[in-house]
Amino acid sequence: MDSVDPIKRSAIMRSVRQKNTGPEMALRQGLHALGLRYRLHAKELPGRPDIVFRKRRACVFVHGCFWHRHGCWKTTTPKSNADFWNEKFQANQARDRRAVDTLLAAGWRVATIWECGLTGKADPSECAEFVARWLAGDEPTGDFPPPVAKPPRAKTHPVATRTLSIESGSSR
Ligand SMILES: [Zn+2]
Repeated sequence: MDSVDPIKRSAIMRSVRQKNTGPEMALRQGLHALGLRYRLHAKELPGRPDIVFRKRRACVFVHGCFWHRHGCWKTTTPKSNADFWNEKFQANQARDRRAVDTLLAAGWRVATIWECGLTGKADPSECAEFVARWLAGDEPTGDFPPPVAKPPRAKTHPVATRTLSIESGSSR
């Protein structure tokens, strides 16, 4: 018998997914292997960055490509309820932009690491090395892999979408 009711359980699962997702863990292990030390999920910072280098005043978001619209092949749009999805995606992107702008204005540097650079055939250590280079440099922002200008055309891809929503965690 499960004592947690379904609504509560899905809320718990959602909050679990938002932290410590597979891609984020892969990046953290890579950073750790490079000797970089960081803090996690800075609640007091706009957008709650996933990884924070406080002394360097730099932070990193790990974003799911589907929810945050990287533009890569994972950035599909479900065919049914397209209006609903587009509205959701636009809200996510607007929220992401606001967080980055606010952080930059407060003197933070902000890197965005995309799930597709950490999962599948991608090598998470390359991603970690990008972060290390970016930290050592002076670019205010950085993206890895760089965003793709043109998202793929809408297609129905129910299986991939479901996998992504679990992996990428954030539906915020
Ligand atoms: Zn991507």
